[in-house]
Parts: sequence; structure tokens; C-alpha cells
Amino acid sequence: MRKRNKPLNLFGHGVMQVQEFLGLSFGRLRHFVNGEWIDSRTEVWRPVYDPGAGRVIAEVPYATDEEVNAAVEAAAEAFEKWSRQPFLERVKYLFQMKRVLENRFDELAAINTLNHGKTLEESRGDLRRAIENVDAAIAAVYTLAKGEMMHEISPRIDEYSVKEPLGVFAVICPFNFPIMIPFWFFPFAIVLGNSFVIKPSDITPVPMTRVMEVLQEEVKLPSGVINLVHGGKETAEALVKHPEVKGVCFVGSTPAAKNIYRLAGEHGKRCIAQGGAKNYIVVMPDADMDVTLPATVSSFFGNTGQRCLAGSNLLVVDKGFKKNFLDKFARRSKELVIGHGLLHGVEMGPLVSKAAQTRVKSYVEKGVEEGARLLLDGTEVRVHEFPDGFYLGANIFDEVTPDMTIAREEIFGPVASVITASSIDEAIETINAKTEYGNMACIFTSTGSNASKFIKYVNAGNIGVNIGVAAPAAYFPFAGRKNSFYGVLHGQMDSVDFFTDKKVVITRW
Ligand code: NAD
Repeated sequence: MRKRNKPLNLFGHGVMQVQEFLGLSFGRLRHFVNGEWIDSRTEVWRPVYDPGAGRVIAEVPYATDEEVNAAVEAAAEAFEKWSRQPFLERVKYLFQMKRVLENRFDELAAINTLNHGKTLEESRGDLRRAIENVDAAIAAVYTLAKGEMMHEISPRIDEYSVKEPLGVFAVICPFNFPIMIPFWFFPFAIVLGNSFVIKPSDITPVPMTRVMEVLQEEVKLPSGVINLVHGGKETAEALVKHPEVKGVCFVGSTPAAKNIYRLAGEHGKRCIAQGGAKNYIVVMPDADMDVTLPATVSSFFGNTGQRCLAGSNLLVVDKGFKKNFLDKFARRSKELVIGHGLLHGVEMGPLVSKAAQTRVKSYVEKGVEEGARLLLDGTEVRVHEFPDGFYLGANIFDEVTPDMTIAREEIFGPVASVITASSIDEAIETINAKTEYGNMACIFTSTGSNASKFIKYVNAGNIGVNIGVAAPAAYFPFAGRKNSFYGVLHGQMDSVDFFTDKKVVITRW
């Protein structure tokens, strides 16, 4: 594998070679509360890894109740002043935030890769979407934050409504997009006048911690407007239950999403809860292979299969082209360059943890046990420069039926299950009947009527036509249905109504 020779300008440590960067450690992470970095008093600490090297790079604290309370109380206090600032003042901070993220782009992308394992280009994508959400939040406040007014509803009676911020909101984040996912929510929340608490994933807490450091140094938001506490399930639950928290945004697995949604209901909180996925990609016989092949390989194996919008079941509507297509799909997948995400030329990084690597391997064993044909086995792949990294190659099963475990359960790793159908109607029926999830479904076809049928009749939130990863831009809601989503309003631009409440005023003059 070729190594990246170009130095990276990182961390305020000056220009560094990749080898030096690979040796970085972050020590014990701290909470960010009321504008200050706080050492945790907890007794519970867990190691945080560079999964590419299998090396511990930090320790993450599991916040005590007092620490969660301090973060929420700081946010509640900050809300009083922040919500009364003219929105033109608040929006200035977002313009500054965008500039800072752009200036620190390479540094933040590299830190993201170091802790998550995804390639540097994938981390850049993570960050680009974060910045896009800052843009969208600015756009939202200028357009969607306005209320409505009617004069003379009756003689001398005017009536209007305004959208007001509510108070403290929190986001509970998954490991797989450590920077982008908090940005789906907090820029919208704060620009509308709310204050915020972020709980990063306890597996990938370093990137967002670094983002907060940079924002503190260079954006200088008023103390308490954004706070960050580390922890796991208990921290998440404590945030939902706290009386000062008005609403919670959750992104993660379906069991955890259900837990948060239930708790939020019990405590009378607003909630957006985005869950897991099991996405079907349909390939029709008339698909343009020059588009389909790279897009499907990237959908199944990009981010090492750890995307909620990753392809998982590859449903081929076979009219004699399947063998030829699968040969090419398997050859290209086998050729993916696997290695440490910071190194130049790497196309697929490691799984995020040893536990994830073990889980994915056990699904491959399960597929074999249930009678699927393992067309490509990536379980023995090794990366010799990093023998302790959590690597797996691409795995492809053929002869999968929709009832097999590997076709039903979320694997969240580089495994493609190939299912065959005889028509588009059978494909749509399979997707609707056989998966409990509804995050994304995509079709590759050159026929408008196939695309049109698919768009209308597939029950999933995000639909792709000749697109392998149908990720909505920040100006659209990040949709999801069935067990992939609990709630009414979605993240990104849809969240304006989530983070505000309408007050109606009737006047007689
Ligand atoms: P996870 O559910 O294990 O953890 C997500 C967050 O919830 C973490 O911050 C964790 O500390 C906390 N948590 C864990 N268990 C909890 C519980 N029982 N109650 C409350 N909080 C809990 O998810 P993960 O492994 O970090 O992320 C991968 C999952 O996220 C996949 O299922 C993936 O599909 C999903 N995901 C969904 C979307 C989407 O938009 N639908 C986007 C990204 C990831």
C-alpha cells in the first residue's frame, strides 16, 4: 500500500507527518460546561481507540449525575439571555462557525479518521455535511422562522403567530458520523434561540470534543449556549429525564431509539429518534452498469458498511444479467484497498471497534450456516502494517432469501446479501413486506416507469434512483420510516418547527 507522504497541518502542532500523527494521544477527555473544560469526577472511564491501529488514543468519562445537571443548568441559564438576543446577533456566530470549520477542515477531518477509522475522504464528507447544515440553519432563520399575520380578522382585531424558542435541547449521537450528526441539530436549535447539550458517542468522542475546542477558541459563543458531556446510556437517559430539557434528538440503533422515544414520552418531551436500517438496493436489467457498479460498491462498502444509508441487501431483478453483474461487483469489491484511513490510496478503513469486527464476522458465519453462498469472504483480510487494527474485507453472499437472518437484521459492516426477484413488483413487495426498517431504498434503472413505481410504492423515507446513498441535503429533512424513525418532524431543515413553538397573539386596537 502506498503511504501518504504529504504532511498534514494539524492540531496547532504545526506541520506533521502522518507517522507522527498516528502516535497522537488525547489523554482523559473533559466535559465542556458553561464555557469551561471540566475534569470529570467519575470513577467510570473507558478506552477510546484508533481502530486503524487498535491503539488507545484517549479515555472517555461517563458523566456523574452532578455533571449532567451542571451542563443542563448552564444551558438553562444561558437560554435566558441568548433567546432574547436579536436573531441577527445570533446568526453572526453561525457565519463565524462556518468560517472556522472551513479553516480547520483538514485537521478536523484527520481527527475524525483517527478515532472513527473511515478514510480521510469520507471524513471530509462528514465535515462538508456539517458545514452544509450551518448554511441551512442560517437560511432557515431568514426564511422559515417567520410567523404569520392577518389584519382585521374581525373589526379592529388583528391576529398573528410567532415562533419562539423553548429552552434546552440535547442530542445523543451514534459513533458513525461523529461530526456531522450533532450538526444536523444544534446549529438550527441555537440560531433559533435555544441552548444545547451534546452527548457524543462514547466510542468516537474525540472529533466533536476537538470541534468544541475550536469553536470555543475561535467562535466564542456566550458561555452555556452549547455544552458537551461524555457518557453512555445512563448519560443519555439522564438528559432526557432532566426537567429543564425541553426536547431530545437521538440518532442510533433502533432499540436505543425506542428507549429514548418512550422515555421522552413519559417525561413529556419533544423527541426526534432516528434508528437503525436495513437498506435494499434494487438493480434492474436495464440499469446503466457504468453508473451502477461504482455506486453499489460504494454504497455497500463505503464507510466500511457503517452508514445508516449503506446498501445491505442487493436485490437483482434477473433477466439473465445477474452472473455478469455479480462477477464485476465481486471483482471490484475484492480490489478495494484496505488500510488505515489516514493513508493515501486507502479505499476502506477498519470497523470502529473489536466488538463490531466480531459481530460482523458472526453474521458471516450465520449466513453460511443458513445456506447462503459466500461469493466473497473478507473475514481473513489482514493489514500487515497494522496487525492490531479492526479490519475486515468486503463480504458478498449470493443465494440469500429475504427471510434469512443476514437479510433481516442490521449488520452494520461490509456485508452484501444478494437476493433475486423476477420483476419490479416482486422487488417492491419484498422490500415492503420483509424489512422492519424504512430508512432508504434505491433502484438502478434506465426506465422512467420503473423509477416512478419504485418512488411511489416503496415504504421508506429516503429513496434513490440511480443513487447508491440517498443522503438528503441539509435543506431537506433527513427522513426515515417504520423502525428507522420515531417522531413527527425530522432533522436538518425540518427541525425548525421542532426547535420552536408557535405563540398566537390576538389584538384589538
Ligand atoms: P447506539 O444505539 O449503540 O448508540 C447511540 C447513542 O445512544 C450513543 O450515544 C450511546 O451512548 C447511546 N445509547 C446506547 N444505548 C442506549 C440505550 N439503550 N438508551 C439510550 N441511549 C443509548 O448506536 P451506535 O452503534 O453508536 O450507532 C450505529 C447505529 O446508529 C446503527 O443502528 C445505525 O443505523 C444508526 N444510525 C442511524 C441514523 C439515522 O439517521 N437513522 C444515522 C446514523 C446512524
